[in-house]
Amino acid sequence: MSNSVRVRFAPSPTGFLHVGGARTALYNYLFAKKHGGSYILRVEDTDEERSTEESMKMQIQDMTWLGLHWDEGVDPSTFGDKGDNGPYRQSQRRDTYKQYVDRLLESGKAFYCFMTEEQIDQKREQLKAAGLPLQLKSDYRDMSLEEAKAKLAEGEAAVVRFRIPDQNKEYTFNDLVRGEVTANSDAVGDFAIVRASGMPVYNFVCAVDDALMKITHVLRGEDHLNNTVKQIMILEALEMNLPEFGHLSTILGPDKSKLSKRHGATSCDQYRHMGVLPEALLNFIALLGWSHPEGEEVFSLKNLEENFSSDRLNASPAVFDETKLKWVNAMHLRKLSGEQLWAEIQPHLDQAGLSFDKSSEWKAKALELFKPYMELLSDSVNLFAPLDDSKFAIAEEATEALTWESSPVVLQTWLEILRSHGGETLSEEDFSEAQNKIKKDATVKGKFLFMPIRVGIIGKPHGAELKILVPLMEKSSLIERAEKALEKAKSLQS
Ligand code: GLU
Repeated sequence: MSNSVRVRFAPSPTGFLHVGGARTALYNYLFAKKHGGSYILRVEDTDEERSTEESMKMQIQDMTWLGLHWDEGVDPSTFGDKGDNGPYRQSQRRDTYKQYVDRLLESGKAFYCFMTEEQIDQKREQLKAAGLPLQLKSDYRDMSLEEAKAKLAEGEAAVVRFRIPDQNKEYTFNDLVRGEVTANSDAVGDFAIVRASGMPVYNFVCAVDDALMKITHVLRGEDHLNNTVKQIMILEALEMNLPEFGHLSTILGPDKSKLSKRHGATSCDQYRHMGVLPEALLNFIALLGWSHPEGEEVFSLKNLEENFSSDRLNASPAVFDETKLKWVNAMHLRKLSGEQLWAEIQPHLDQAGLSFDKSSEWKAKALELFKPYMELLSDSVNLFAPLDDSKFAIAEEATEALTWESSPVVLQTWLEILRSHGGETLSEEDFSEAQNKIKKDATVKGKFLFMPIRVGIIGKPHGAELKILVPLMEKSSLIERAEKALEKAKSLQS
C-alpha cells in the first residue's frame, strides 16, 4: 500500500469515550502507522440534540491521554482545525453538504418527502400486515422537484430522502476483517439524508466526508455494517471515490451480551480514574479482536506499532475481561521506575488526602515493597495510608485487643525496645527480633502478642504486613503511635 493511506476516527460527541471507541481509534492509528499514512480525527456532531462541546473535549482529552495523536483533525489544544481538509467538525460543514444534497436532488437521486410520522407508521403497518419487509417507499419519490419546491415555499416541512433504486441490486464489498460481504438494495428503504430541520444525517455526511477527506480505509465497529450499503449508494450516486471498509468485532461483557454500562465501567475516563495506565489500557483493548504475531500479551504502544497488521483482526466477538485488564495493568506498573510510578500514584494519594514529605529513596523503597500488591494505581491509597502519621488513629475495632490484660505490658515492652534502639528506623530483622523479645519478656504469644503490636503500629487489628510497613516508618513516629495505643489501653483498663 502506498503512502496515501488515510484513515479516520470519527466519534460522535454524545458522551464519554467508550472503550470500544478507543479500540477503533487505536486500530486506525496503528493502520496509519503501519502504512506510513495519515490518521485523522473527525468529529461527527450533526446530531444537534445529543452532541455537546463538553463531550467532544472530554473525548479529545482521553485520546490525548492514551497517546493516540492524530495528524489532522480537531486540534487537541485549540479545538480549531489542524490540517488542510477541514473543517473537521461536521457541524461546521453544512454549506459543503448542501452542495452535494442539491446535486442529488437535481439529478433525481434524492427527493423531498412530505410524509408525516403517522403516515410513515401507517405505511409500515401495511407492509407488516402484508408480510413484506419494512422498507419504506415514500409516496413522494416521483414528485417533481418543482412541485416539491412549491410545497416548501408554502411552508410545508420535508426531509430529503435518498431514492433507492427499484431493482434488486446486490452490493458487494471486500471487508478487511470479514472478507466478502453482500447486501441487497431491497434491504434498505428510501432513507432520509437531511432532517426537516435542514441538518443532514450521519450516513450522508459520513460518506461525503470520507470522500472529501480522501479517506482510503474505514475501520469501524460491526454495528455500522448496515450503514455501509447506504454509504456506498450515496458515494456511487455522487460519483465519488469509495474507501475500503473493515468492520471490527463486537465487544461483549462477561455474560456474552453486548458490553454496556450494565457490566460496570465502560469509558476510558472511568478506567483512568480507577488507576489504569494508558499503555495498559491500549495493550488490553488491542487484544479485543486482534492477536499479537508472537502471541505476546503484554506490550508497549511502540511494540504494537511495529507488530500490528490488519490481517490479524478477528471477526468473532471479543469478551471484555476486567480481571485481565487489571493483570495487564499490574504488569505495566511493575515495569515503571520508582520515580515514574510515584508520579502516577501521586494524584490518587492527593485525592485521598495522603501526603508524604519523604526522600526519593524512601519513595522508591516503599514502591518496590508495595508493587507486588498493586494492580491499579488507586490500590496505592490503601497501601500507603497506614504510613501517613496525620491519619493515624486507634480504630473502633481495635478496642477489644487493648482491653486484654497483657496488652499494656506488650505495648510498654515494645516502647522500651524502640526507645533503646540506636537507629532512626528499624529493619525487617530488627522488627522480628523485637517481636521475639516482647514474646519472652511479656510472656505472651499468638494473637495476644501480634494484635496489640499491630494496633500500636497502624491503629487497627488487621491490615498490611507489618514487616513491610515498619521499615518504612520513622522510629519517632513508631514511638508516638505506641504511646497513643498504650494510653488508650490504660484508659480502657483503669
Ligand atoms: N460517528 C460514528 C460513531 O460514533 C462513526 C461511524 C463511522 O466510523 O463511520 O459511531
